[in-house]
Amino acid sequence: MKTSSDSHPATLSHVFSFASERTDQWRQLNAQARAWAAASDKDAPSHKRKCDEYLGALRELEHYWAFPGPRLMEALSTALEDQDAEAFAHLAQSASAALLSGDFRRSENVWNTDNDGDGRALDALPPDMLSGAAAKPYFEVLVVTPVQSTHWARSREEIARMRREEDPFKYTVVQVASFEDALLATLLNGNLQAVVLLDGFSFASRQDIPGMHEYIRRHIDLDPDNIEPGALATTLAQSIKRIRPELDLYLLTDRAAETLAGSEQARGIRRVFHHVEEPMELHLSILDGISDRFETPYFDNLKKYARRPIGTFHALPIARGKSVFSSNWIRDMGEFYGTNILYAESSATTGGLDSLLEPTGNIKRVQEAIARAFGAKRAYLGTNGTSTSNKIVVQAICKPGDIVIVDRNCHKSHHYGFVLSGAQPYYVEAFPLTQYSMYGAVPLRTIKQALFDCKAEGTLDRVKVIDMTNCTFDGHMYNPRRVMEECLAIKPDLVFLWDEAWFGFAVFNPLHRRRTAMGAAAALTERYRSKAYRAEYEAWREKHPDLDPSDASLLDARLMPDPDKVRIRVYQTHSTHKSMSAFRQGSMMLIWDEDFRHVEGPFEEAFFAHTSTSPNLQLIASLDIARRQMELEGYALTVQATDLSLRLRRAINDHPLISKYFHVATPEDMIPAEFRESGIKDYGPPHSSWAEVADAWDQDEFALDPTRMTLVCGAAGFDGTQLKGLLAERFDIQINKTSRNSILVQININNTRSDASLLVKALADLSREIDQRQEHGTAAECDVFAARVKSLVTDVPDLPNFSRFHDAFRDNSASRSNEGHMRPAFFMAYDESNCEFVKLASDEVDKRLKDGPEMVSANFVIPYPPGFPIMVPGQVIQADTITYMRKLDVKEIHGYHAAQGIKLLKPSALAGHRPGTDR
Ligand SMILES: *Cc1c(COP(=O)(O)O)cnc(C)c1O
Repeated sequence: MKTSSDSHPATLSHVFSFASERTDQWRQLNAQARAWAAASDKDAPSHKRKCDEYLGALRELEHYWAFPGPRLMEALSTALEDQDAEAFAHLAQSASAALLSGDFRRSENVWNTDNDGDGRALDALPPDMLSGAAAKPYFEVLVVTPVQSTHWARSREEIARMRREEDPFKYTVVQVASFEDALLATLLNGNLQAVVLLDGFSFASRQDIPGMHEYIRRHIDLDPDNIEPGALATTLAQSIKRIRPELDLYLLTDRAAETLAGSEQARGIRRVFHHVEEPMELHLSILDGISDRFETPYFDNLKKYARRPIGTFHALPIARGKSVFSSNWIRDMGEFYGTNILYAESSATTGGLDSLLEPTGNIKRVQEAIARAFGAKRAYLGTNGTSTSNKIVVQAICKPGDIVIVDRNCHKSHHYGFVLSGAQPYYVEAFPLTQYSMYGAVPLRTIKQALFDCKAEGTLDRVKVIDMTNCTFDGHMYNPRRVMEECLAIKPDLVFLWDEAWFGFAVFNPLHRRRTAMGAAAALTERYRSKAYRAEYEAWREKHPDLDPSDASLLDARLMPDPDKVRIRVYQTHSTHKSMSAFRQGSMMLIWDEDFRHVEGPFEEAFFAHTSTSPNLQLIASLDIARRQMELEGYALTVQATDLSLRLRRAINDHPLISKYFHVATPEDMIPAEFRESGIKDYGPPHSSWAEVADAWDQDEFALDPTRMTLVCGAAGFDGTQLKGLLAERFDIQINKTSRNSILVQININNTRSDASLLVKALADLSREIDQRQEHGTAAECDVFAARVKSLVTDVPDLPNFSRFHDAFRDNSASRSNEGHMRPAFFMAYDESNCEFVKLASDEVDKRLKDGPEMVSANFVIPYPPGFPIMVPGQVIQADTITYMRKLDVKEIHGYHAAQGIKLLKPSALAGHRPGTDR
């Protein structure tokens, strides 16, 4: 893969690391400045030269942030020119400290060039910054302007004059003069919340940032050398929305503002102003836009509710803390949890608390805000984890007899959902990653084959849903756009359920968004509406007049749906608590279904069936708050988490000592080449630039979420469980998932660079110990170690595939498609006389494998890890499953008790059962 490595810090390959590299650069400038101030006359010139270099590089980039801003940068330059090392060091120190600590958001002092703090306020932040109102949230507004930069200071002051005491937020302004600079600022500056476009700015940036021009030109619908007047602003608006849809956009124009405001090009622009209008309107609009996102309807009301004196006569003695604070025995409950959580408890749905089951007030508004923030058409709140959200969605979209093509490795809530709804699972297999004892994701070819099999059988009309996990526990991301497009070509009204339990954060990061269910639903909707698609489809259709299911070449051909028939029907569930700031069990169901009007009734039924009539108020509030956070800082936080994971990957894999024993699996390790068409091997320079990663994520069948790191530890002689234990006991590092020879390290929006260095330090310590044991150990000890490594790295058990349902649960035992009636099998086991047990180690197992009768599982058997069912009710158990279970060294296996053995349905019970006689 070609690299666009360049030491210029603003190369596009650095977009993710940019914020952290910027602070590093300030740190270095600060260190150099101190060295200069302390240097002897002889050394001073060389230190000064260094300072000059660092400052020069920073000056270029500081255009995109409000702080330190032009005047502080100017002051630094002046101090340098004046050879005033003291003043330079002082300025560099205070600027970098304010930047690192975030003090520039809170304190006016740090904006001053005058170090005594009593100088003129540079950007004239409002006086309240010094008072108790310092807690006002701060943000930055990008102004794209045709005005000469020499006049910028004056317009900044004009804007500053509009600030009022009563404003709920405070902001400062960043000015740029071109389309390219505006896009760059959008990418780099996570403090931005709004963009003001003043019609008439130019296209090209004066800065020469490698890779930028080419990248931008490739991704916009515009020929920069041939621009219609006015098109630049609306194209910029659309491009910004594509990167950060949450930003509020304002357009100031001399053109007929009222016509433009209603036009298609101005879609996504919050307000269009005529140039000469009152600037105060703009100021108020900007604040209003932030208020819309800041507002948390449910949480705000809950806080109000907690403050009111209320006598309660409903069930829930702890509400208002009444049974707690007066108790002789449980007062520590109140001390530990504090008063608010008790004052905010109620079982009432009055007092503006609304009802989760029948929302009409602020919960309804929470749902609407969530739908807006996550790019969905509708949203529902889940208060019992995605385990329940999945059951709700499955039951809402499936009825008995419907076929669901489903990844056998999906979370058990889906399988239980099929039992509940009577849907018939058609299990499809993910590609195996045997070397790590895990599965990847289901190849599109496999899904298409399943659809074609059903078409050949005449059962395609019963195939209702495609149900996949995106991304998987280990970070395999589907290409939902491509999967849906090709499946819809075979059956245009398919429903998709994407379980994005881990992936809720992903829509807030422009790189990840393309791999999300909602991102794909939006992209496909736009695509099928376009004239260009219609033309493309017509041409394709000529060559593929009908899709013959026996035509194997179709499995590799790119299929296209008929734009007149296709329906976009996408459901997403995610565990908000897994990647955002919600309490445990906080979950969301996101919907983009053009035919939802036919599902709304069943959806409500399913929601009622599974949702408690006493949902936890704090959970609902936390979902509301998680949405607020993501809509205001999700971009910055997810970019930062991605950066951190890229750094950590590099720190481990490039470390001379650690990399002898540990390795973070790369995309190349985790995704077979056939699914990685771009050939991308790893992230970041020298392997790939940001633009190349973006292209690979657009096109490749699978991609790997860098924030989910498989840390392979077999070469260190540890199995996953051992390393997990060691990290917890010795280093206070908590890990959740393990495989036979790896652990999973997850980076989230809460992780810091200190967390990353804690892990690197732990791995370095462990590696050093192994090194020493190798050096000082006896030959016998070394042999034991080598044997252990071999067993962990190469002797990994083959993962068993889904075998088939027993004929008693199949409509057509000759069919290639494997869907079966799982529900009757599940309930058959409720009658104990239908069941028997065989011990895993017994000869009987081997005898029955060889001579029959077939062993048929009576229930789900789910080992943790890997956490998916290796047996489901009604499944015929084959030798590979037995071998796998015998080799399996995990202790927790749901549905299996070693003392009893494997629970089977008796052959006599099966003989009496006819398929289709569901109970
Ligand atoms: C965790 C998880 C679930 C269940 O979510 P909870 O919020 O824990 O109930 C469902 N699906 C997948 C893929 C998961 O990882």
